[in-house]
Amino acid sequence: MILIVGAGPAGSITAYLLGKEREVIIAEEHQSAGFPVQCAGLISKECVEAYKKYCNVKKAIENKIKSALFFSPSGKFFEAKGEAFVVERKLLDTMLLERASEFAEVFMKHKVRFRGAKAVLGDRELDAEYIIGADGVNSEVARSFGFERPPFFTAVQIETRFDAMDPNSVEIYLGKDYSEFFAYSIPIGETAKIGVIAKRSAFLYLKKLIEKHPSVSKRVKGGILELNSGMIPEKLVDFVKGKVALIGDSAGMVKPYSGGGLFYLLLAAEKLSENFPNLQAYKKAFLKEISREIRLGEKIRNIYWLSNEEIERVVDALKEFDFSGVQMDRPSSFLGKSLDILGLILRHPYLIRIFIKILRTSKFSQKL
Ligand SMILES: Cc1cc2nc3c(=O)[nH]c(=O)nc-3n(C[C@H](O)[C@H](O)[C@H](O)COP(=O)(O)OP(=O)(O)OC[C@H]3O[C@@H](n4cnc5c(N)ncnc54)[C@H](O)[C@@H]3O)c2cc1C
Repeated sequence: MILIVGAGPAGSITAYLLGKEREVIIAEEHQSAGFPVQCAGLISKECVEAYKKYCNVKKAIENKIKSALFFSPSGKFFEAKGEAFVVERKLLDTMLLERASEFAEVFMKHKVRFRGAKAVLGDRELDAEYIIGADGVNSEVARSFGFERPPFFTAVQIETRFDAMDPNSVEIYLGKDYSEFFAYSIPIGETAKIGVIAKRSAFLYLKKLIEKHPSVSKRVKGGILELNSGMIPEKLVDFVKGKVALIGDSAGMVKPYSGGGLFYLLLAAEKLSENFPNLQAYKKAFLKEISREIRLGEKIRNIYWLSNEEIERVVDALKEFDFSGVQMDRPSSFLGKSLDILGLILRHPYLIRIFIKILRTSKFSQKL
């Protein structure tokens, strides 16, 4: 029997795929999937296509996005065109769990604990041959089986009435004054999800963004309709030990430059089911698919830690950059733009120093 701990998207997709041919139990501590909501729900077109295999993802789409506007601390911005979608996580997670229940036995409102290697589910002790920790950033599985824990950022997000620059563009706010990573707004009709990601004091950064940012502060039109917060892992950690494997946030499987995990966890679930029961092969296959993207992604995120002055210059220069062909889930797609990047640097020689700074090895880079 395989025990999957956690019925978020990672757990549900894995339960569905493995449950087709094996006995699977999936346990979730909450009484419903996708609750509490800890997600902005922004996913790429490629990601939507991939989710179509597992649920009617179209039903969960709240908005279609056509571009991202990147703001400097002074309020200047450039536009990067690219299709994406905003999905309602509660609905997405519910549909995925419903699908999992076709093949797996589901235990809701059951928090899994471990007594030695034995899983405890309510008053039952389970003899699971394989354990899959799909239990998020605070993974009980990872803790109980001695996995390395990834450090994390805190994300705080509100929903409020907001005058978006464009109802179909997300906005990204750069600069150390408003986050320790980045801040964002994602429009949905008259409102937007506005969030900040930081190591500490995320609430204070959010307050500052809303009250002081030269562009955002003028466009927030009301009070808070909803507030939620969550954790975002900073890096991928080793995710296989004997007959125990981690998947999704518990393993730090998120894009280094956005904290988005919905695409990577789906790839991981597919690699896990293709290679099961060989968990080392799962690890190898996932890393083969994604480690280049992670390494490049870690470099891209170095942009967040540039000085305000450097960000102003980068934003100015990128106004003339053509982002067509760049895929938001795959930083390696930038390699196809090498000539354009070279041209940009030649036109703006001051970018050389900034470019070298961005390319330096990330402090989080590691070999798995
Ligand atoms: C504010 C915020 C915004 C985000 N925005 C985006 C975005 O726009 N796009 C994107 O792709 N990603 C985004 N993410 C990241 C995304 O939400 C996660 O990567 C994704 O939810 C990870 O899925 P998961 O299944 O691994 O973990 P989770 O969704 O965290 O699910 C884990 C499940 O395990 C359950 N659980 C935990 N412990 C136990 C236990 N002991 N027993 C039983 N059940 C247990 C939990 O209740 C939970 O249901 C965002 C994250 C945050 C915090």
